[in-house]
Amino acid sequence: MSTLKNVLCNYFCSKVESMRNSIINNIDKNLKDGKSSSKKDNIKDYYSLVVKEELSDNFILNDYMEKVHDIDEEENDNEDEKEDILEEMQEDRKGDIQEDKMEKESILRGLNNIGATCYMNATLQCLSNSEDLTNYFLKKYPNEPNFDKNKISYEYYKVVQNLWDKNNNNKPYSPNDFKEKISEENPLFAGIAANDSKDLIIFLLERLHKELNANKNVNIINNNINNQALQLDKNIMLNIFINEFKEQNNSIISDLFYGVLGITNKCTKCNHTKYNFQVYNYVEFYLEKINQYYFSIGKRNNFMFNNKNPDIDLYECFNYLNVFELMNGENQIFCNICNSLCDSYYNSYLFSSPNYLIINLNRGRGAVYECKVNFPEILDLYNFIEYKSSRLQFELYAVICHIGESSMEGHFVAYCKNRLDKKWYLYNDAFVNLCENPCEYQKGMAYILFYKIIQ
Ligand SMILES: [Zn+2]
Repeated sequence: MSTLKNVLCNYFCSKVESMRNSIINNIDKNLKDGKSSSKKDNIKDYYSLVVKEELSDNFILNDYMEKVHDIDEEENDNEDEKEDILEEMQEDRKGDIQEDKMEKESILRGLNNIGATCYMNATLQCLSNSEDLTNYFLKKYPNEPNFDKNKISYEYYKVVQNLWDKNNNNKPYSPNDFKEKISEENPLFAGIAANDSKDLIIFLLERLHKELNANKNVNIINNNINNQALQLDKNIMLNIFINEFKEQNNSIISDLFYGVLGITNKCTKCNHTKYNFQVYNYVEFYLEKINQYYFSIGKRNNFMFNNKNPDIDLYECFNYLNVFELMNGENQIFCNICNSLCDSYYNSYLFSSPNYLIINLNRGRGAVYECKVNFPEILDLYNFIEYKSSRLQFELYAVICHIGESSMEGHFVAYCKNRLDKKWYLYNDAFVNLCENPCEYQKGMAYILFYKIIQ
């Protein structure tokens, strides 16, 4: 029982469903127009045409079906036993779910694919299972002074409202208005071109913050102090930065998703260290670069000896943040003390963490860098964050997986811990199915991880 196979089966089921609908519509139309004398012939011809088109569109997925087959054969020996146990467990869980539904009225609503929108659907499901954000939209947003029917935040609110509407009998929802609105505001999302979930998350967080920001009209008297940065020490720089940021930014998004990133630059000539700060709402790890680094310091033995890239541990990614990079040549940075461009050692580190931490496992644009990333369900960042306000443990609640050989093609699905019943589900466009915790098996396809701080 390969999970990838389940994903693809569901994907094809959704395709067949949409084919069926378009066939029925077309037949009805032709019958109305008097074009068809025989309903039976019409069904046959039209069906074979649609299937041909669909198959040519999905050659990547066909390719994957073959690969899945290979994997299955390799694993078959010990897989049968596992399969039985898994099936038993799933049956048990199904029973549990029925009970939970009665008690907590869990809501599991898929999103229809409205033209290569799997990237959007996966993103919306993950964000909508971000508990505090959804509570805000369902309870507070309608009474906010920033409530405005012409804004993206309003369209997002409508999606959230529909996804958590218990009166819909878990029927899939079509986020047409949301798609239309983001297409209008950003040409990247217009049309039916395939897109990247990461681009949508970045755009959406920034836009929602801008629209919901209560402090956007605050006048800034002097924000040039960062540039004067002569001999100011780190704490002074930090205080200035945080005060300025708070004066200008106040939204549910900045409350939940923004942390402070520290940046240091040490001049190689005069040894002066310059401190800077900026906010971040996601952390990006370049997996290929990280593997190369660990290879260069002798921590990767099997690298290049077989055709597989070595696995990466998520903690190794956080460790890599502490590595200093030499900025020379074109990348030289201006030193205030030497009063010229100088070579320097640069690093950025997590100064403080947001309550909701989004991690992008960057596998490159174009050809996907395939490697497994081991990510824990409970992530302990105590050693990786400078400002320790609490235990700094995070709980995984959503994962976006990407299936396909290139970042701009293929299929996106989301695994989310449902905010009501706290169980893991696979959200594959219109389909929502109970599943195991993705930490256990989705190491090779995980693309974006969503963690929430444990209070
Ligand atoms: Zn210098």
